[in-house]
Amino acid sequence: MQSNAAGWSEAVPADAAAARPGPPLWLLAELTYRCPLHCAFCSNPLDYARHEAELDTEQWLDVLTQARALGAVQLGLSGGEPLLRKDLETLVAHAHGLGFYTNLITSGIGLTDARLAALREAGLDHIQLSFQDSTRELNDFLSSTRTFELKRRVARSIKAHGYPMVLNCVLHRYNLPHVGTIIEMALQMGAEYLELANTQYYGWAWHNRQALMPDARQLREAEAVVERYRAQVGQRCRILFVVPDYFEGKPKKCMNGWGTTFLGVAPDGTALPCHAARMLPGPALPNVREHGLRWIWQESEAFQRFRGTGWMPEPCRSCDGREDDAGGCRCQAFLLTGDPAATDPACKRSPEHGRVREAVAQGAASMATGPGVAATRGVAHGRLAAALAPRDNAAAASTAPLVFRTDANSLRLSRG
Ligand code: SF4
Ligand code: SF4
Repeated sequence: MQSNAAGWSEAVPADAAAARPGPPLWLLAELTYRCPLHCAFCSNPLDYARHEAELDTEQWLDVLTQARALGAVQLGLSGGEPLLRKDLETLVAHAHGLGFYTNLITSGIGLTDARLAALREAGLDHIQLSFQDSTRELNDFLSSTRTFELKRRVARSIKAHGYPMVLNCVLHRYNLPHVGTIIEMALQMGAEYLELANTQYYGWAWHNRQALMPDARQLREAEAVVERYRAQVGQRCRILFVVPDYFEGKPKKCMNGWGTTFLGVAPDGTALPCHAARMLPGPALPNVREHGLRWIWQESEAFQRFRGTGWMPEPCRSCDGREDDAGGCRCQAFLLTGDPAATDPACKRSPEHGRVREAVAQGAASMATGPGVAATRGVAHGRLAAALAPRDNAAAASTAPLVFRTDANSLRLSRG
């Protein structure tokens, strides 16, 4: 391995898997960064407000055609809020005609009965609807909007239109104590699938990490609740709950391995091997305005950079687990160490694992000393405090106030 001037290791793919990539089975089309919500854990880049020029309809249609020709079969339509694109139905119809399985990933805002019918007509297969919590107070606090009741109505409409529905809820210290009521809400709404997604610390969640980090007790209790419900409800509603890698000592196989399965396209046409990859230093990410998807997938330096195992440093290089987890997440490695080619510090074998233990310990310490949501955020949040059990009210407060995803905050935080 060599280090470049920036101090991080150059990746040199050298194995057969890197030389002969299979097709990108999953295309994620991030149609826009615009969104009516302001979630404090949003995975969009902190500087999203500086990326304004969205691909137009013709360009997206071309991306879909190229991706299908490359072998992509599953299409996620996300954002931001993809419903803000007036051409969404056109894109869905085109994707359906190409043979994609299409999944709309939405906050639900703007999903009227008329649009549901039009999307049905266009051939949309599946809808994933996000909630922030099972209580109006916390849902609305975390998204900095008044959208809980609207989301409930949208969930009813999705079922009335005959769609299979995934409910998604990002978990953190605020809502982990509500896992039982979140599951009850999903069951009442008739969701076939509930994704309880513990926060991944990228984008806005990285910025708010100390304020969102749960402690081990919350995770243990939530997991026990999930297990109880799984035994009760069986296949009626499949419940996914993955313990966050910060707490496990082993990294996740991010994107099923860099450049193996996942191809993302950002609103401005930047092609992404992982949806957080645009923050990484190194070779510029290619853009679909300038290159064909086949070249991007098979030949661009950015997509080859961490493909396979040849790029790995020790301890991954000689570890038996390297095919199982692909060395973990490159974006997490960069955020925690400054080197995107480092072993993911979530792994207990990483020489930098202490950074993860430190973050967990800091989170736990801030929960132990927090004075309570209402106290830290003023009288206006008294109702929010009431929605939390007393000990979780104290736990949810932190020394670091949440920063919400707004254009003004994005511009301020990404000032050069
Ligand atoms: S996480 Fe929230 S703010 Fe971010 S895109 Fe989704 S709904 Fe919008
Ligand atoms: S050392 Fe590397 S390959 Fe081995 S378990 Fe840790 S991250 Fe995975």
